[in-house]
Amino acid sequence: MPFSDLPPVLVQALTEHGYTAPTPVQAAVLTPEAPGRDLVVSAQTGSGKTVAFGLALATDLLDDDDDDGTLLPAETPRALVIAPTRELALQVSRELAWLYGKAGARIATCVGGMDAAKERRSLRGGAHIVVGTPGRLRDHLERGALDLSALKAAVLDEADEMLDMGFREDLEQILDATLDGRRTLLFSATMPRPIVALAKRYQRDALRIST
Ligand code: AMP
Repeated sequence: MPFSDLPPVLVQALTEHGYTAPTPVQAAVLTPEAPGRDLVVSAQTGSGKTVAFGLALATDLLDDDDDDGTLLPAETPRALVIAPTRELALQVSRELAWLYGKAGARIATCVGGMDAAKERRSLRGGAHIVVGTPGRLRDHLERGALDLSALKAAVLDEADEMLDMGFREDLEQILDATLDGRRTLLFSATMPRPIVALAKRYQRDALRIST
């Protein structure tokens, strides 16, 4: 599917950013069989993976019945992105901010080393998307500041890095706090056995994408 078939709020954002055609991984998440599915994506940094999962989240964030691409209300977060480092989480947050800015999405960023009280205020304000690092997200969850009860989609960005850095338990705690109804989008540069095990535990009938 070309970018022009996406909801106008996204087309506008992509055009203003100078993105005219999808990269291979973006094209793959926009194929007709992908929306709404669990995804296992082999993707390297530089492949355009951030915009790829951003676009994949459109089905979880925007109203399908409205061609303009109106945001669905979010009293609690609809989408969660978990990334291994503060730098990557901030970068993801910036990319999603321009991609969904026109749609009016509120994004809360929760990362280690930043002001946790400020993050709690931003979560209380009703974020559509939460982006963060595993430890800090788990912390907010345990203190009751992060409510994942209505989550539609969880993205694990650079999942292999997160496991290598010892975040498996944090990831499991976070994913176990979400309902069966949410889908999981697993992005990883490599697919070692622990990633396959994670996919098996948290995904159903996942679509495999490698570009
Ligand atoms: P990533 O793989 O998400 O780290 O993205 C790598 C780089 O590609 C980023 O600087 C993006 O801004 C850029 N990029 C992503 N998608 C596109 C696209 N469709 N056209 C041109 N550049 C893009």
